[in-house]
Amino acid sequence: MATKKYVYAFSEGKAEMKGLLGGKGANLAEMTNIGLPVPPGFTISTEACKEFYNAGRKFPEGLEQEIEAKVAWLEQTLNKKFNDLSGPLLVSVRSGAVVSMPGMMDTVLNLGLNDQTVTALADSSGNARWAYDCYRRFIQMFGNVVLDLEHHKFEAVLEDQKHKRNVEFDNQLTSEDWQEVIEKYKYIVRKETGSDFPQDPKEQLYKAIYAVFDSWENDRAIVYRKVHRISDDLGTAVNVQAMVFGNMGDDCGTGVAFTRNPSTGEKLLYGEYLTNAQGEDVVAGIRTPQPIAKLAEEMPDVYQQFAQTCTLLENHYKDMQDIEFTIERNKLWMLQTRNGKRTAQAAIRIAVEMVSEGVLTKETAINRVDPNQLNQLLHRRIDPTAKLEVVAKGLPASPGSASGEVCFDADLAEKLHEQGHKVILVGTETTPDDIHGMVAAQGILTSRGGMTSHAAVVARGMGKPCVCGCEAIRIDHENKQFMVGKIKVKDGDIVSIDGSTGEVILGEVPMIEPELSNEFQLLLQWADELRTMGVRANADTPEDAAKAREFGAEGIGLTRTEHMFMALDRLPIVQEMILANDIEERAEALAKLLPMQEEDFYGILKAMDGLPVCIRLLDPPLHEFLPNAEELAVEINTLKLTNGDPAKLSYNEELMRKVRSLSEFNPMLGHRGCRLGVTWPEVYAMQARAIFQATARLVQEGYKIETEVEIPLVIEVKELAYLRQLVIDIADQVKQETGVDFHYTVGTMIEIPRACLLADEIATEAEFFSFGTNDLTQTTLGFSRDDAEGKFMQPYIEKKILAENPFIVLDRKGVGKLMQWTVDNARRVKPDLLIGICGEHGGEPSSVEFCHMIGLNYVSCSPYRVPIARLAAAQAAVNNKDQSK
Ligand code: ADP
Ligand code: MG
Ligand code: MG
Repeated sequence: MATKKYVYAFSEGKAEMKGLLGGKGANLAEMTNIGLPVPPGFTISTEACKEFYNAGRKFPEGLEQEIEAKVAWLEQTLNKKFNDLSGPLLVSVRSGAVVSMPGMMDTVLNLGLNDQTVTALADSSGNARWAYDCYRRFIQMFGNVVLDLEHHKFEAVLEDQKHKRNVEFDNQLTSEDWQEVIEKYKYIVRKETGSDFPQDPKEQLYKAIYAVFDSWENDRAIVYRKVHRISDDLGTAVNVQAMVFGNMGDDCGTGVAFTRNPSTGEKLLYGEYLTNAQGEDVVAGIRTPQPIAKLAEEMPDVYQQFAQTCTLLENHYKDMQDIEFTIERNKLWMLQTRNGKRTAQAAIRIAVEMVSEGVLTKETAINRVDPNQLNQLLHRRIDPTAKLEVVAKGLPASPGSASGEVCFDADLAEKLHEQGHKVILVGTETTPDDIHGMVAAQGILTSRGGMTSHAAVVARGMGKPCVCGCEAIRIDHENKQFMVGKIKVKDGDIVSIDGSTGEVILGEVPMIEPELSNEFQLLLQWADELRTMGVRANADTPEDAAKAREFGAEGIGLTRTEHMFMALDRLPIVQEMILANDIEERAEALAKLLPMQEEDFYGILKAMDGLPVCIRLLDPPLHEFLPNAEELAVEINTLKLTNGDPAKLSYNEELMRKVRSLSEFNPMLGHRGCRLGVTWPEVYAMQARAIFQATARLVQEGYKIETEVEIPLVIEVKELAYLRQLVIDIADQVKQETGVDFHYTVGTMIEIPRACLLADEIATEAEFFSFGTNDLTQTTLGFSRDDAEGKFMQPYIEKKILAENPFIVLDRKGVGKLMQWTVDNARRVKPDLLIGICGEHGGEPSSVEFCHMIGLNYVSCSPYRVPIARLAAAQAAVNNKDQSK
């Protein structure tokens, strides 16, 4: 009988089997096999979950028999039995996806209890309070997770009971209280489902397993996967594990800990625990937990063992661990370990320190930092010299600073965000149902919950500023406001939060630009040693160029000259040039622009002394420099109606004629790029002259200048040959006029499929290529970016027709194929041809990797993304060592 194996005892698994056993199951197996104290249990594989969905939500053939066998084995191992009054088996049923999804899937504890076994347990243990506490928890969790009853119905009963007894916390309730609560819980179940709470442990078990499978498709899980780009096809495993109890008294407890500080990276055990508690109590904010250091005082032996176990696990996994544990009567039990989520700052510090500790190599270390996460550090923070009206202080749960309108509702936050508002989501705490609001918010502020609360964990994962457990703010949901002392902050008021200090500030605050920490610089230095591809920046001003250099750019990959044309003092002259009736008039306007452009180029080239600077000649359609036709029409009408200045009227009418004549059906495919150079060569000639005059001056002043003149939008080698000659002629003239010799190159942007296809011909006239992947994506897909992103990109991604937005993540399959073809064919003709990329893709890690794989010389991106590109390029080099051609 060759049926598939779906169920694995923990002793049969290992960490590498994550795909099959889920993260939690694989790590429980690993911990079991390295001899750590893990309550025994077994894992039902993700394969079984997939089959469950394939079969229309039915258990696959053979699964039930396997489960029966493993339950029998568990009963034998523990000498306990389901439904046995002398020693009832109690288990937890825990979901465990391949990629950890905190709080997304629900766990049921104490399964196996019923009206009989609870009495037996109460009698045999002599601890009735504990037995009934377990049972009420079980009914509540099972009721919520499996029977789909609302959590708050149970909570209300509990609150009532506390109120009735005039106590504050659950651990102050007695055995009799729990028995009362249980009766009420059972009544809720009967009333809401029409049946009694299931008493048969096997029935409980199967229903719970079914519910875990089912939860893979619940809304929260689906949203989480979408946000974190986790595949919907992975499925979840189910872990069935013998219970251990942290709620048997004050020599018991449960906790969570990180082996290093997940916020700063400091090497120090970091976490929280609660005595006499079970499961989620620590993170649910039921009572305020103790810091882990306190455990060293309260239970020194257990602490000692725990600390040793943490070190052992860290060395074993060679990474910072996020651990869940329970103490039952002074005995430590390990319930979970995984690589801990961390801020970018912590990721860097941990990676760097683990290299100096000899745990990691530099190659491994640079792979430990997610380049996308670096954004957090490259963001602004509150200006430390600013006078702040700090009104409260909570926990610094996720670093970074944000200002925005106070908003108490996740749906509203999402709506406001869509309307362009910046919001700070404020709540008592957050739940997985608030994810969409957290995505939309600039930052998150909660009044309850610790550093491991839902809000904190999720915000760190998203790289959003978050202040948690800010007890000084009292939220009044009814009136949509919160109070801090006597200050009232209403829905829509502006507040700022600093997730690195925990401060809450009234109003907007001044922010400053980021700088790189020593550890960050060291990591980037290693990245520079490992990467083989260059990193440049796109910069249009000397300031941007300087910033780029500071962040480690090795040149400028794109300077756009049109931004210079848009400047307020230039625009009228640019318009004069466009409106000119003949060559002479145009020459006059160009003569005025020349010295201005020369100064622009002088500044940028000087800032990049010693490094290459690629300057693109004018690219956008000319009408972009002229007034909007509709506004002009209104102005003309007003002049007519009011008998306004006739000279002004006739000027405007002339302007209108030009605007009309320049207007295009499809400007993206219209009169732009080198087509402007072909029709109006004098414009490109002026720009070339400005570039070379600036170059000559700087060379004379002793700077080392490497100018690259770039012709945009080329489709044909003859087009490039014509314009290149024009540039060369000007260079020769300038050399002659100034008597200065300088070096420069002329090349082209590759952004039209025809240019890719004819790369070998075009290469003969080019000294460099630079992929303009924004236009290349537009022209290859036939998507205009604005229209696509505004109208139909979302459904394409939702329906999985496209995996990613190709304007953000390079479309390797289509656009990438053209790029590969271009590189291969151009280099056949010119093996040393310099080829780079200057689209936004140049700062996106997956695209950077692709550029490395096809052999580009450099990527170029916005100055702030330069560190991201440096790291991504290093990862690409390390991870593609074997594939490199
Ligand atoms: P999550 O994935 O949401 O962290 P878990 O499956 O880890 O859910 O379980 C939630 C909580 O229940 C954890 O704090 C864990 O320590 C506790 N728990 C799970 N299984 C057991 C068990 N067998 N004995 C005691 N506590 C358990
Ligand atoms: Mg857990
Ligand atoms: Mg372009």
